[in-house]
Amino acid sequence: MRIYACPNCKATAYFSNQRCMCGNTLVYDPERDGFVPNGQTCANRAQIGCNWVAEQADTGLCRSCAMTEVVPDIEQGDNLSLWARAEASKRWVIATLGRWGWFTDADEGPSPRFHLLSEDTAQGHTPVMMGHQNGLVTINLAEADPIEEVRRREALSERLRTMTAHFRHEIAHFLFERLAVSDPEFLTKFTEVFGDPQADYGAALKRHYAKGTPANWNSRFITPYASAHAHEDWAETSAHVMHLTDMLDSAVEAGLMLPTLNNLKYDAYAETSAKALIETAGAYGLALNHVNRSIGQDDIYPFVHSPTVQDKLLRAHGWLRGSGA
Ligand SMILES: [Zn+2]
Ligand SMILES: [Zn+2]
Ligand SMILES: [Zn+2]
Repeated sequence: MRIYACPNCKATAYFSNQRCMCGNTLVYDPERDGFVPNGQTCANRAQIGCNWVAEQADTGLCRSCAMTEVVPDIEQGDNLSLWARAEASKRWVIATLGRWGWFTDADEGPSPRFHLLSEDTAQGHTPVMMGHQNGLVTINLAEADPIEEVRRREALSERLRTMTAHFRHEIAHFLFERLAVSDPEFLTKFTEVFGDPQADYGAALKRHYAKGTPANWNSRFITPYASAHAHEDWAETSAHVMHLTDMLDSAVEAGLMLPTLNNLKYDAYAETSAKALIETAGAYGLALNHVNRSIGQDDIYPFVHSPTVQDKLLRAHGWLRGSGA
């Protein structure tokens, strides 16, 4: 993620900031990828702290909020703050995907639609399954609660489980459908790399949950869940390409240099060599893991890439940045 400037006083302004120290209301325009002077604020700003510019004439909503079709019942429990936290992660993911052109004005394809659902409803506890189907992403807001996020991460023995990761994973499923339509060679090449996307999904998930992960999963998959089905392998791998690119971009923006990367103008989103991107991001990951340990925090990026996984990351990177694979 870039680090921005207040259009009024030029002071540093971070992506999620609402207001500058100079008193200026910060309004982010995803089309210009920056804070803009005199921007009309999104109609959701007062309620959920959305700091994006209004784009929809009829609703007064920003690009990101307009993609959300269903929001939780805000009269119920903590739903308002859960919704606000989830939308903040969603804006982050949409803005960074915009660096590759996805969901911008120049992108002629459809954008995903979102149902942000809480398990806490007026009818009592109602389980919500996260997932993607036909352009619709369903997000369970339970994990926008930091305690619940950690509880589920531990219960499922996952190394990285955040709202940002959920949005990246589910949007990757959506992008599979976009690529299948826009690139005539996509499905054939996809099958070579990730396996058969047509394989029975229900049976595969049942098998995954009954038998667990294959013992040697990390030689072939980036996460245990990626071993469940070709679609999940793609979604997990693509989410990691997004994580690695954003981690590298954020590190460079913050001025963190490595002996192998000492160019402050480096743009991770413009990097054409997936190999260079993944290697450099991996080096940053190791360095930042070391920094995190200094105060007893968990590693920022607790993953290693086998040669097979590296190849999958390279292919996914090509498709995500629109250069094919
Ligand atoms: Zn300012
Ligand atoms: Zn908004
Ligand atoms: Zn999935």
